[in-house]
This record gives sequence, C-alpha cells and structure tokens, in this order.
Amino acid sequence: PIRTRIAPSPTGDPHVGTAYIALINYCFAKKHGGEFILRIEDTDQVRSTPQSEKMILDSLRWLGLDWSEGPDIGGPHGPYRQSERSDIYKEHADILLQKGKAFKCYCTAEKLAEMRKDQIARKKPPRYDGTCLSLTDAERSELDLNGVPHVVRMKIPESGTCVVNDTLRGEIKFEWAGVDMQVIMKSDGLPTYHMANVVDDHLMGITHVLRGEEWISSAPKHLALYDYFGWEAPVLTHLPLLLNADKSKLSKRKNPTSILYYQRAGYLAEAMVNFLGLFIKSSTEEDEKVTLQHLIDDFDVDHISLGGSVFDTSKLDWLNGRYLREDMDGAGFLEQWRKWALNDEYMLPIAQMTQSRIVKLSDLGALTAMFFMNRIDGQSAEKLRDGVKLDELQQRQAYHLALTQFDAMIMWNKEGVDGALRTTAAALDVKLKDMIRAFYIAVTGSAQGVPLFDGITHLGRDIIRERLRHALE
Ligand code: ATP
Ligand code: GLU
Repeated sequence: PIRTRIAPSPTGDPHVGTAYIALINYCFAKKHGGEFILRIEDTDQVRSTPQSEKMILDSLRWLGLDWSEGPDIGGPHGPYRQSERSDIYKEHADILLQKGKAFKCYCTAEKLAEMRKDQIARKKPPRYDGTCLSLTDAERSELDLNGVPHVVRMKIPESGTCVVNDTLRGEIKFEWAGVDMQVIMKSDGLPTYHMANVVDDHLMGITHVLRGEEWISSAPKHLALYDYFGWEAPVLTHLPLLLNADKSKLSKRKNPTSILYYQRAGYLAEAMVNFLGLFIKSSTEEDEKVTLQHLIDDFDVDHISLGGSVFDTSKLDWLNGRYLREDMDGAGFLEQWRKWALNDEYMLPIAQMTQSRIVKLSDLGALTAMFFMNRIDGQSAEKLRDGVKLDELQQRQAYHLALTQFDAMIMWNKEGVDGALRTTAAALDVKLKDMIRAFYIAVTGSAQGVPLFDGITHLGRDIIRERLRHALE
C-alpha cells in the first residue's frame, strides 16, 4: 500500500509551502487508496517549539488535509515526534558504526573551521577531509576514555557517481567526491535531519517521498544511508517550490507565507486548497474552481510543471470571492463570518481590550475595526501623521526595526511584542511614548485605540508584518 507523509519542522509559523507539499502527498495517497501520515521533525531542539507544532497541526486540519497517523492521534509506527525517538536513532547509528559505514569524529569546531578555510583558499568545495577515518581502535578508546566529545559521520564512497532517480526529473547524477561525510549523530547523542528522516521513513513504511526541491542535494546521502542499512529507498519526487512574482523562492519579505495570515486575512480553507491545487491540476480543464475530491481524482504527478509555481495572490482573491459569493446563502455566509471572527475565541480578548477604553457601545465599530481588516488604508495614515513626534525617516526606521525584531521572536506573545518595541525605541533613541503613535497609525489606522501591545499580539505576527510593510511602501 502507498504511504506518504508530511514531515514539518516546528520552527516557526505554519508555511504555505508546507500546505502545498502536504496537499500533494495527501492527493497522491488518497488517489491510490493509501495512507497519508504526519511526522514532526523536531531534531533542532533550539528552534522547535510546541506552539509551532500546534499551529502546523491546526493549519493542516483547517485545510482538511487529515492524516491517519500522527503525534496527536498515534498509530502503529509511533511515536511520530522525532524528539521522542532518540533511542531508535542511537540504535541505528550503532548499527552503522558496527558495519563500518559510519565513524566517530572527534574534530573540534576550531579544527573544522580551519579545514574549511583551507579548502576555500584552495578553491575546493568545503567538506570533511576524513581526518578521523584513520584513527586506530586504540586511539579511539583512549579519546573516549578521556571523555573527548565526538559526533558520528556517515562514510561516503571515495569515487564514482550517485544516480538519483526522480519521478519528475529522471536521473540526476552526483559525483560522490562532492558529497560531504555528513554528521548523522551530534555530540549530544541526538540525530541530524538526514539520519532521523531516513530511519523514520523506513520504519514508518513510507513508500513515496514527495518533497520540496531544496532537498535534492540531500538525496545522495539519503540513498547511501538506505543502502548501508540494506533497505529499499522510497520513490523520490522533488517538487518545484512556490515562487514570488519575480520567480525567486517565495519569501516572507515579499509575500505573506504563513497559513495563519491567510486565515486571518479572511480566506476560506476551500479557496486556499483550490488555489494550491491549481499547481497540480491538469491544465486542460476549463473551470479552475475545483474541490479537494476533484484534485484527488484528477491527481497525476505528471501534471506538475517543473517551471515552478508562482504564488499569484490575485488568483487566490478571485477564487475566494467566488467561494464566498457562489457557494452559500445568507445564513451560510453568516456562518463563515462567525467562524472567521464572530466567535468567542477571537472576540473575547478584543472585548477585554476595548472595555478599558469604551464610553458607549457605539464606539465599538471604530475601536474594533482593526481586527476585521487586512491592510490599513494608506491615505488615512497620511492624515494622522501630524501628531507623530518622530520625523518621517525615524518613523520608517522604527517600522523596519520593529519588523526585524518581530521576525526574530520565537514565541509570539505580549512580553515579546513589548520588548521588541522597547528595543526599537531605544535603538532610535526616542521615548517609547513618542513612538507609539506611529505604530497606532500603521496598525490600527487611527491615532489611538485598544491597548497597543495587546492589539498587536492578538492580530498576530503576519497581519502586523503586512501592515508595517504596507506602511513602508
Ligand atoms: P522564509 O525564507 O520565508 O523564512 P523558509 O524557507 O525559511 O521561509 P522554512 O521554515 O525553512 O521556510 O520552511 C518551512 C517549510 O516550508 C519547509 O518544509 C519548506 O520545505 C517549506 N517551504 C519553504 N519555502 C517554500 C517554498 N517556496 N515552496 C514550497 N515549500 C516551501
Ligand atoms: N523536516 C523537513 C522539512 O521541514 C522534511 C523534508 C523532507 O520531506 O524530507 O521540510
């Protein structure tokens, strides 16, 4: 039976790229009566957060891309979170060490940096030079006895060519000489992505790996690992990435990339799925408005064009408008409205924020408008500049600095927002109080409103990024 997976790393907001790759894996599995599973790749302990994991699961569920095994629901091949599988990787690293397919490496960071510098100076691709391959057993025991830390690296064939068979691209050839002896276990005993990914795909019975093309260069290492273990490798398909209008890789500097942004900006899950589905739908069909079921029935890897997939939000707008206007009556539309914003989960914090500023209930329209819109109209912002204590350059710098600070926050919460804005004011050497109005304008479209830090926190990073970016245009 066909088994596919989405294997996100919980290191930030749920990415539309993850949704797009998940959709393809989902449709492929469903089309062939197989299973689609979800695995959390949280081997990067510093950047992974439970908050991010939850957002990814919630977003994929919102889109209707349900999985049959995963960290939330379990399954026969669990656990489905890599941080809970350390023993499994350790066991498998030992197997490779015993087979002589991997080796312990004791080189220090300084030594590796030197190696790198030297190779770059000699115009060679930087890669591990194999120093520790020549250690004798006695030398190794001595180093271990002295408690010298080590990583485990995989061996790489000394010469020859690795042929990666990719469904969309055919044979891709790599010279082994250019492939690095990848670290597979870090000195803390935890695996790297390559090790955990291969071991899990095998143990979880994944038959087809469909993932972003940024992983093509990792494929030789993965194929070598499958070979060393004596396992059959899954069928590999590397998918073209989503692109900005200028054909560069979709990036949050140019386009919102978080699924949460699209949700908060008022797009329907059906429209989003339909939009992502346009990249995999056969182009011979006339109507572009299609259901998830249609995408499944119609699915064929060959429909995917290698040209790349430009993320054209005007197309998304066009589809979304059609869903809202064509697919529901007034009551159904009201129901969508409720789901989007007129519900307690979204409204209660807003009620709490407005309560401290309210005189009469009829103030609510103006006070809360910021929570029901996407971008703030630039003209009204211009009119409000009068009361701002910063000059225009300072105001732009403040927006820029705040954007950078906000992007660097691991957890999105009020303390972080507060800290980011204080840091911004300090960096510009202005009083926080004097800077606040500039942010009210960009974020709320009015000179004052609900408590600013609460409002920013509640709106979420992506809408805020979009508003500040718009204010800078
Ligand atoms: P950004 O450059 O906007 O910060 P990123 O590349 O850092 O994005 P990651 O957090 O590394 O984003 O990626 C999250 C997930 O989204 C990964 O699984 C990655 O494969 C996928 N992804 C990122 N960018 C794209 C893209 N342009 N097309 C398809 N998938 C993508
Ligand atoms: N964790 C990787 C990612 O976030 C998975 C890559 C793969 O599918 O092998 O993209």
